[in-house]
Amino acid sequence: MEQSDLADQAEAAVQHKDSFFIGGTWVPATGRAPIPVIDPSTEEQVASVPAGEPADVDAAVSAARQAFAGWAALPADERGRLLGAAADVLEARTDEVAGLISREMGTPLAFSKAVQVGNPVRVLRSYAELLATYPFEEQIANSLIVKEPIGVVGAITPWNYPLHQVVAKVAAALAAGCTVVLKPSEVAPLSAYALAEIFEQVCLPAGVFNLVTGLGPVVGERIAAHPDVDMVSFTGSTQAGKRVMAVAAGTVKKVALELGGKSAFVILDDADLGKAVKVGLANCFINGGQTCTAWTRMLVPADKQDEVIELVRAAAGKYPVGPPTDEGTRIGPLANANQYKRVVGYIEQALADGATLVTGGPSRPEGLDKGYYVQPTVLADVRPGSRVEQEEVFGPVLAIIPYADEDEAIAIANGTPYGLAGGVFSGDQERAVRVARRMRTGMVDVNGGRFNPLAPFGGYKQSGNGRELGEYGLEEFLEVKSLQL
Ligand code: NAD
Repeated sequence: MEQSDLADQAEAAVQHKDSFFIGGTWVPATGRAPIPVIDPSTEEQVASVPAGEPADVDAAVSAARQAFAGWAALPADERGRLLGAAADVLEARTDEVAGLISREMGTPLAFSKAVQVGNPVRVLRSYAELLATYPFEEQIANSLIVKEPIGVVGAITPWNYPLHQVVAKVAAALAAGCTVVLKPSEVAPLSAYALAEIFEQVCLPAGVFNLVTGLGPVVGERIAAHPDVDMVSFTGSTQAGKRVMAVAAGTVKKVALELGGKSAFVILDDADLGKAVKVGLANCFINGGQTCTAWTRMLVPADKQDEVIELVRAAAGKYPVGPPTDEGTRIGPLANANQYKRVVGYIEQALADGATLVTGGPSRPEGLDKGYYVQPTVLADVRPGSRVEQEEVFGPVLAIIPYADEDEAIAIANGTPYGLAGGVFSGDQERAVRVARRMRTGMVDVNGGRFNPLAPFGGYKQSGNGRELGEYGLEEFLEVKSLQL
C-alpha cells in the first residue's frame, strides 16, 4: 500500500474528528483552535482534533454521572454482550483502524493489525467472557462482601499503543459497571474516535462512554481534579503521573497509575546466548522501542559480553527501518518530533559518557531524509548509574551492561527508580524463576515466556501502582462493601 492511500483511508475512517462524544451524541467543538495530528513518516498534518476546555470535561462527567446508575444496575452478562459486540465490530474494522494508527504514530501496518488492533479485540473479548463467571459477591463468616463499580472513571492515555491503552482501561471499567470519560493522547487520538463510533454502533447506552480530546494540563488535569470523578486511571510518563496524583489528591479519589519503565533482561551465564539475544533484541525493538515494558537494559556476564556483541551485530540487520506501509519494515519512525530529539539526544549522551557503539548511532538512517526515523542502536559497556542506564529513552536503543555475578546482576536490574517489567534467560528454568522472584518489578518473562492478556499488567516503584488486564484489571474499578448479616 502507498502512504497516500493510507492517508485517504485514515481521513475516511473516522467521521467526527471535529467533535467530542458526550452523552451519546457527537458535540461539535466550534471555535476552538484544533490540535494537529502529524504523520511521523512524512511530518505532514493528516488530521486535527479539538482542544477541549474544562467545561467540556464538566459536560462529559455530568453525562457519565447520569448514566452511571443504569449501567451499574444492568446484569453483568448484558454488559458483557455489549463488550463482545464491540470486539466483533472492531475486528471487522481491523484494516481501517490499523491504518489510522500507523498513520498517526508510525507503526508498521502489519504490527498495527496484529498488535495495535489485535490486542484491543482480545482484551474486549476477555472482559466479555470474564463477566459470564466473575463472582461479584462472596461470603466471609457472617458478612456478605459485595463488589460494586467505583463510579465515574476518568481515563487518560498515551500514544504508544493508542487503542490498546484505551481499551485496557475502558473495557475493564465498563465491565465493572463504571461509566467513563476518556482523554486520549493528543499525539495519536484518531483510533479513540473509531472506538467511540463502535460503541455508538453497538448501542452502548448514552453517557456510558464519553470522549473529550485535548491537552494534558487542560483536559487531563480537569479530569483529575473533578469532584464528581471517582477514579482516575492514567497511563503515561512518570512525570505526568505524579502531576495527576497531586491534582487528584484534593478529592481523595482513587488514582491508578501505569507509568514508565527501564526494564532489565538478565542473561545468566548458563543461557543459550543465541536464543537469548534474539529474544532480547526483539523485546527491546518492538514498536520501535516505544513500549513501556521494553527490556532496554541487557545484563550479560562480563566474560560473555564480546560474544553477545557479535550476536547482536549479526541480528541487528533483521530490523529494517522504513515507512509503515513497506512490507519489510520492522521499525517505523518515532511517533513525533519530540521523541526524535529525545532519542537522538540520549544516544549522543551515552557515547559521551563512554559507552561503546555496537550498531546504529545518532545519525539518520540512510535514504530516509524526512520523517522521525532513527537507527536502531545498541550500546555496550554501559555503566550502571549513567543516564542511558537509568532513564527511559523510549526509542530503539539497547544498553548492554556487563556484570560480575548473579547478585550484581540483580542489584543492577533493581537499581533504577522504575519496576515495570523484565526478563531472565537461563539454561535452568528453576534458577531463572529464582532470579525472577528477586526482581523488584511487576512482570518478568522467564526464558521467553509469552505475553498473557489475562495476567496482571503493572509496575512496582515509580512504574506505577495499578494493575490492568484480566481479573486484576477488573478489580481496580470495584469498591468492596461488607454487609454484616
Ligand atoms: P505523557 O505522560 O506525555 O502523556 C500521557 C497522557 O497524559 C496524554 O494523554 C497526555 O495528554 C496526558 N497528560 C500529560 N500531562 C498531563 C497532566 N499534567 N495532567 C493530566 N494529563 C496529562 O506520556 P506519552 O509521551 O503519551 O507516553 C509515553 C509514556 O507512557 C512513557 O513514559 C511510557 O513508559 C508510558 N507508558 C506506560 C505504560 C504502562 O502500562 N506502564 C504503557 C504505555 C506507556
